[in-house]
Amino acid sequence: MNKPNTGFATKEDSKDLQLGDLPENSIPLDQLRYVTTRFGDYEPNEMPQLPIGFLIPATDTEPERMTTSFTVRDSIDTGYYDKFLGQLEEQAGNNPSPTKIIATVSNFLAKAIDKIGDVPLKTLAQQRSSSEAKLFEDAWVADVTTMILGVRKQVAGVEIAIATKCPCERREDIRDNPEEGRPLHTLADLEIKAFQGITGSPLIEVVLPNGIKDSGDLIRHIYIEPLKLYQLGKLLDRKNSAPADIKLFYEMIAKIPESSTYGKIKGRPFCEDLYNQMGRKDRTALQNAIAKIQPGPQMSVGVDCYHCGTNFDFPLPWLRELRYLIYNSSEPIVTE
Ligand SMILES: [Zn+2]
Repeated sequence: MNKPNTGFATKEDSKDLQLGDLPENSIPLDQLRYVTTRFGDYEPNEMPQLPIGFLIPATDTEPERMTTSFTVRDSIDTGYYDKFLGQLEEQAGNNPSPTKIIATVSNFLAKAIDKIGDVPLKTLAQQRSSSEAKLFEDAWVADVTTMILGVRKQVAGVEIAIATKCPCERREDIRDNPEEGRPLHTLADLEIKAFQGITGSPLIEVVLPNGIKDSGDLIRHIYIEPLKLYQLGKLLDRKNSAPADIKLFYEMIAKIPESSTYGKIKGRPFCEDLYNQMGRKDRTALQNAIAKIQPGPQMSVGVDCYHCGTNFDFPLPWLRELRYLIYNSSEPIVTE
């Protein structure tokens, strides 16, 4: 098979595979390259580049293209948006289901993001016959978290007042407050890992060391994609009791063209039958591949407890407390 070594599959390329045809323009796992930037290296008014990017459909005048830039609405720091997000979280309830968490994030971004590349959100939604919120449900988690950091920066800059409890036995309160000698933390040091040189929607080729024998087929090639936001919701769903690593197989395996049973399936082709037939080496190869193809920003800040010196990671609460992260986490909490 004459296959190019670099580049990525576009939706058009991979639509009409015949059985056994390997997708052209997929990228072999060992040729995947990353570039890492520091959030603080962007100018104060500049948004970070998206680690993967959005596919902008072809128009009469322009071909299909990828874009990795976005802009946030100018008025994003006003109470209007803060209230909108507060209402979304209120509607989702105190113990929101993963579906409601994902809906809160995507509905807020649909309001907060002005343009993807140079295309207004509304136009992009129309081009894709989608709603504005669905653009974000279908977006890569890596891009969603980067946009959230961008919104947070435009609202309140990169300084963050951490208020949490030390994970040590005494569970002491930690509250940044410069007036009391406890300086704020910063988001400037967060690293953002991006795919390098992407020209289409990424489809990554994993070659299994042994291969899966299935109904007379030998499956050696599995094609995987990074996680999308709605898939993260499915992973968080406790009603689905499969182990987390196996759930990732279901969500991230995009194509199995060598399988006569699963090769033509629209949607996710992986199933329990295939997992049951996979040998240990192949399972490990796939797990390693999945771990390798998750770009995106680091979503935690390192904290040193000022009581006991314990060092721990404070996860930025973008899934459950987005309003706190964007609108309330830049000022120290003042207690009487
Ligand atoms: Zn402590």
